[in-house]
Amino acid sequence: MLSRTDNALGGVSRAGYPVGMNTASPMADGHHEPENDTDRGFLRQAVKLAVENVAEGGGPFGAVVVRDGEVIGTGQNRVTRDHDPSAHAEVVALRAAGQRINDFSMEGATLYSSCEPCPMCMAAALWARVDRVVYAADRQDAATGGFDDLEFYRLFETDRSEWSLPVEAVRLADATAPFDKWLASDNRAEY
Ligand SMILES: [Zn+2]
Repeated sequence: MLSRTDNALGGVSRAGYPVGMNTASPMADGHHEPENDTDRGFLRQAVKLAVENVAEGGGPFGAVVVRDGEVIGTGQNRVTRDHDPSAHAEVVALRAAGQRINDFSMEGATLYSSCEPCPMCMAAALWARVDRVVYAADRQDAATGGFDDLEFYRLFETDRSEWSLPVEAVRLADATAPFDKWLASDNRAEY
């Protein structure tokens, strides 16, 4: 599954960044403008969730998952409140949507986020198979706000050998045993 994740992440840089963000033709204020009023409406909900979360002692991030015009999941950043480093608003919203629709696949859905998803959340969106990701503030805004998104994006663009975090493979003799078991299983749920 690692190779699958790596492949998916590799696709982010091509498919995950709206063209308007990083080319010579951004909006005058540097922000990509969403396409329609529907997008703006759901983005406002995400931003409202983010602002409310700050008032409640949480991080300044909110997200909503929408399918067929209906909000099927909402999320606020709960990292500090839940002592959960993965509880970013987008992940929380995708988890809520999965519980709501009883499915890990969110094909046909759009993930709206108050801020450009970090690499973890972008990967979560890919795993969830959402159709679109739409965001308001960007990674530069997040960096200005004191968050590491930009740093992590840059890190993923560098070779792992240059990371301050050692990532090491230790090849056990039975390293592939879980996959052998998986492939031999009659009741595996493909995803
Ligand atoms: Zn994130």
